[in-house]
Amino acid sequence: MSANERDALVEGSPPRGALPLLKVAVKRGLSESAFLLGTVIRVSTAEPALALTFDDGPHPEDTPPLLDLLDRYGAKATFFVVGKSARRYPELIERMAAAGHALGNHTWDHPSLPSLKGPFRRRQLAWTQEVLGPHTSGLFRPPYGEQSLGSRLDALASGLKVVCWDVIAEDWRDDPPEVMLARIYRRLRRGSIVLFHDTLYTTTEERFRDRRPTLATVERLLQDLGDRYRFVTVPELMRLGRPVRWHWYQRSRLDWLKQVG
Ligand SMILES: [Zn+2]
Repeated sequence: MSANERDALVEGSPPRGALPLLKVAVKRGLSESAFLLGTVIRVSTAEPALALTFDDGPHPEDTPPLLDLLDRYGAKATFFVVGKSARRYPELIERMAAAGHALGNHTWDHPSLPSLKGPFRRRQLAWTQEVLGPHTSGLFRPPYGEQSLGSRLDALASGLKVVCWDVIAEDWRDDPPEVMLARIYRRLRRGSIVLFHDTLYTTTEERFRDRRPTLATVERLLQDLGDRYRFVTVPELMRLGRPVRWHWYQRSRLDWLKQVG
């Protein structure tokens, strides 16, 4: 989201020329409602800590090498898993939990939630919560970063905190690690939440499924920053400071992914 789009969201609906008092009231109302309905995008903290997050898994070939890599560096991460895959590969869910990683809900089979009717949306959340069982961290990330007010309220009613990101690797294409690293370093700061994919649940091109560039990017981050930053789970990061919340209802820039059948 650009700064202008962000400002537009914060400014809310009053048209230009509306009474300044109304504008102030709307702004205040939005900022207060962000506590309940906002989406966490990063944590404001003085601690040198970061949260790496991995969506769309687990996958029997793609996920284990990443878990090995995180183990080698003693890094903790957060996995937003697809319920259907989690049910299919329970041993990977057990391994993530045993290694101290956090597990979040990424719906049952990765639809764009605003396109679904209420009961279908709620099933997407509930079925995945059921599979995660005691391993749930109570976090939820909407596929493609897309949510409507309805899906946001569903998450609230299910007791799930919605977590998106402030730094994005864009690892759903075939960019080389140097390009992804430059993209990450432009935005990275203390308390950042970084979006990666341990696998791709949907893709337009099979060659994008290769996770080696993502693994190389993560390894470089761990090497470059390991002596200055701690790599922690999202729940731990949220305990280290004040979660920054946005009203996040915009269509994301990941629209092309939905062209996949
Ligand atoms: Zn996803």
